[in-house]
Amino acid sequence: MAVDRQKKFSIGNWKMNTDLADALVLSQGVRDGVEGINGVEIILCPPFVWLYPIAETLKHTPKNLSLGAQNMHWQEKGPFTGEVSPMMLQKVVKYVILGHSERRFHFNESDELINDKVQSAFEHGLIPVLCIGERSKTNSGSDEMINQLVRDLNEVSEQNMSNLIVAYEPVWAIGTGDAATAEYAGDVAKKIRRKITELYNEKVAENLPILYGGSVVKSNIAEYMDEPDIDGALVGGASLKINDFVEISKEIGRYR
Ligand code: PEP
Repeated sequence: MAVDRQKKFSIGNWKMNTDLADALVLSQGVRDGVEGINGVEIILCPPFVWLYPIAETLKHTPKNLSLGAQNMHWQEKGPFTGEVSPMMLQKVVKYVILGHSERRFHFNESDELINDKVQSAFEHGLIPVLCIGERSKTNSGSDEMINQLVRDLNEVSEQNMSNLIVAYEPVWAIGTGDAATAEYAGDVAKKIRRKITELYNEKVAENLPILYGGSVVKSNIAEYMDEPDIDGALVGGASLKINDFVEISKEIGRYR
């Protein structure tokens, strides 16, 4: 395990979309489209129920394509009706999205809970894609986002920091078409790196992949990738279209 910035990241968050047939067509279409692209880790995050069938059909897939979950419980097993545990996921996925704003705000996930999940992901050999972001566009100081970062990483060891990806996703930009400007996202990514330097050290901060997410499409991805502190994208809507997600991933691969 361990991630670094030598590789870039293109992550597709399908959210609660697709039926089984769509999921298989989409995952196989992306697999075929990204074959031969180097220097970018492409990660598909379908709904839980499609993970296993997709994993089966992608068995002999190119090394640059992996699976991730959109969420998980922090405990291994027990009386938690409707939940999915890290132990169940660890055989099927390499990554897990944690702290997505839709979980924070529709399901009241607190930073303490997200921190438990982050720690549990490390314990189970999963790489968390930790999402942070402010709700209001006028809160450009992003204190809310920095507070999330600090609390979600509570007591995360320096060693585990090399198994983490951070995705900066301003809530106002998610699914709205109102993407943050690349300059704004780049400045926030720099701010995150500065905070990580303060919490850990420069080496940890320099090694940490920081992604941007929020209305990324194939026509704006290059602008984000031009920002030196942005190492890829977490893509929602556009990851449901084979051609768009393949094009986004190819563009990200040009920046390795
Ligand atoms: C997301 O779901 O994390 C996301 C960024 O969505 P979208 O690309 O649709 O804004």
